[in-house]
Amino acid sequence: MAPHPSRRGLLIILSSPSGAGKSTLARRLMAWDPSLKFSVSATTRAPRPGESEGVEYYFKSKDEFAALVASGGMLEHAEVFGNFYGTPKGPVEAASAEGRDTLFDIDWQGGQQVRNSSLGRDVVSIFILPPSIADLEARLRTRAQDSDAVIAGRMAKSRDEISHWAEYDYVVVNHDLDQAEEELRTILRAERMRRDRQPGLSDFVRALNAEFETRSTG
Ligand code: 5GP
Repeated sequence: MAPHPSRRGLLIILSSPSGAGKSTLARRLMAWDPSLKFSVSATTRAPRPGESEGVEYYFKSKDEFAALVASGGMLEHAEVFGNFYGTPKGPVEAASAEGRDTLFDIDWQGGQQVRNSSLGRDVVSIFILPPSIADLEARLRTRAQDSDAVIAGRMAKSRDEISHWAEYDYVVVNHDLDQAEEELRTILRAERMRRDRQPGLSDFVRALNAEFETRSTG
């Protein structure tokens, strides 16, 4: 799917507790629609094995992060698990102006801030719930990249994250990845079909009316 220069890009926010399958679903959505742009956040947390600079995150020191915030370069920022995370504003504004839809993997604090930003009217927010808390913990443990203490902290944070579910436009329960992916595609398809987001619709209807005119005068 090509970007749509005659409309502003959507800001598609995915939030969930860690381990609900959000990153996998984000990757699948981008494979389905390569025109989607992933918003690469800045963070002060250390890279995990396999993560690289500029792909999953821009890895920053606390001072560098604070400087970015102070210069107004962040669309939103928040502290999560004792580290700072934030969305660089420039790429999001550029994508919005190009009509390119951007996918955000950010927490509820970021979701609130983006919704309240100048780009808020283009936000489509989706909360992903796990099928059960036992499943959530199992997925966190299978990932096995974090220590027990970190996992315990993430489980506590999960409850807090889930308490914000009702702030989102859509909620998807990830019982099954294929089904959850299809539900996300349905949301995107429908949001792009909204009247105010269909490029060229006024011209098209004008042409229909012109056709009526031709018939009545002809
Ligand atoms: P992780 O360290 O596991 O990659 O991410 C931890 C949490 O921080 C996740 O819930 C993720 O959605 C959130 N997060 C990642 N980037 C950002 C960001 O730029 N802003 C906010 N507010 N949260 C973020």
